[in-house]
Amino acid sequence: MNTSISTSNLDAITGYERLEDFLENATVGIHLVDKEGRIVYANRAELDMLGYSAGEYIGHNIKNFHADDSVINGILAKLLAKETLINHGARLKCKDGSVKDVLISSNVYAENGDFKHTRCFTRDITNLRKTEKLLRQLNIAGEELSASLNTEEALDKIVKFIVPQYADWFTIDLLKDGQQLSLKMAHADHQKIEWAKKYRGQNPIDLNDERRGSLGWVLRTGQPVMISNVTQEMMEASAKDEEHLEVIKALHIASAMVTPMLVKGKVIGVVCFISCNPFNKYDEQDFSFAKDFTNRITLTLENARLYEEVKQDALLRTEDSRRKDEFISIASHELKTPVTSLKAYTQVLEQSFEKKKDTKSAEMLAKMNKQIDKLTGLIVDLLDVTKITNGEIAFNIEQFDFNELVEETVEEMQRTTAHRLIVNLSKCTVAGDRNRLSQVLVNLLTNAIKYSPGAKKVLITSVCDEEKVTLCVKDFGIGISPSQQPKVFTRFYRANENANYTFPGLGLGLYISAEIIKRHGGGIHFESKPDKGSTFCFALPMQADRL
Ligand code: ADP
Repeated sequence: MNTSISTSNLDAITGYERLEDFLENATVGIHLVDKEGRIVYANRAELDMLGYSAGEYIGHNIKNFHADDSVINGILAKLLAKETLINHGARLKCKDGSVKDVLISSNVYAENGDFKHTRCFTRDITNLRKTEKLLRQLNIAGEELSASLNTEEALDKIVKFIVPQYADWFTIDLLKDGQQLSLKMAHADHQKIEWAKKYRGQNPIDLNDERRGSLGWVLRTGQPVMISNVTQEMMEASAKDEEHLEVIKALHIASAMVTPMLVKGKVIGVVCFISCNPFNKYDEQDFSFAKDFTNRITLTLENARLYEEVKQDALLRTEDSRRKDEFISIASHELKTPVTSLKAYTQVLEQSFEKKKDTKSAEMLAKMNKQIDKLTGLIVDLLDVTKITNGEIAFNIEQFDFNELVEETVEEMQRTTAHRLIVNLSKCTVAGDRNRLSQVLVNLLTNAIKYSPGAKKVLITSVCDEEKVTLCVKDFGIGISPSQQPKVFTRFYRANENANYTFPGLGLGLYISAEIIKRHGGGIHFESKPDKGSTFCFALPMQADRL
């Protein structure tokens, strides 16, 4: 059945002339080799692929055209053993000195078991191999470069990838504030670097350059250009004078590709690949590789630039914040001494006025005393911040009745406010620093009163279980907007800075309170709704073991 189909199909090409035409003009290379390895026939496609005339190829030993002896010896041995080869990889030498990657499929024609000749089909896969290799390289380069966050390191890696494998002369130029800046220049031949620099010195990039393919033109237009074959005439045309022409000739430029570095559609630089090897002229595959590689370079350099910017920024901010801390520490210490002596003088004066029964002056002094206490409070907060920053805050731990502390503090606060402070407490004992915990309470109560100018009451409740005590201070004041809530425990952060109210404060109370509670192994949290009020709670473990 099969035989009859192939016989009927063959009818169309039988006849010597048609078969000869079929062989001769087939689009795949075909050759026949005899027992001794001599080429007895080669068709046009095969000759064209390798660049030989029939006389230069036919009649010669096939071994002469293979780049790898071991490969052709292996092929011939298999064929002599009458094996069939399918897509056997090999490299063939072309007339122009280049080497082609091919796949060979072959079997043997024998008569009465006698080897007569091979039937050999040769497929050129040079381009395919090249594309594979370039893609592989591009991937490797991409992976390696993405790990580079330092510009110098990235540039070194880039040059290692490109020179000399893909370019003998390679440059990267950036455009910064309208000015061209040579970022990297590398040459496979180290001695040529000086020439290359001289060339660039004599021939700086001119952004107004009208010549298509010049670095200035690519920088201006953002269009990539490949000049596969740089001719003598092109060199002469681009030289300014005899001396300049000498420099250009000394560089032996054979082929060039110039690609723009683009960030968000804006040209930020230009990359130039130059081959000085006349056997290594760039083609479309190289051009596509160069464009892709340039994108990787751009991305890598952009990443490195952004990273360095962020690092620099962080360094500046750290330095800034260190200086701020230092200032707070010095300022609060310097303020403390005069305020302490002011306080002492007011006490002496108060006693003196009381003795003289000068009630008016005594009243004024009492007001002054109150202001000094406020000032002292602010200075104490600033000193606490310094202690927290330096890890110097110390705690005096004791077991004490928590209710007693809350009641005492509330009583004292009640004397200074018109708000009704309503207490509902569970009885419990805790281990902690009584003064520091009182400071937290005072802060929460002060805030509850301060930030609810229109309200009349503040609720203070505590709940105890076996593990912890939770104390909450609830007010019915202005509340905190959801967007500001995550920041209220941040040092110096002040929410509610709106025009309707002005509240005094430094934005330190909650920061200090949170630190104190954290150091007791507890936690602080709150709920708040604008214009409805806030509830700030802290929970303390019964055993403070993190101090
Ligand atoms: P200060 O009150 O000195 O500004 P705090 O650290 O005690 O600093 O509070 C930080 C910010 O949190 C305050 O500026 C305020 O905007 C907001 N805040 C704190 N407690 C309340 C509250 N009970 N109601 C509304 N806002 C509050």
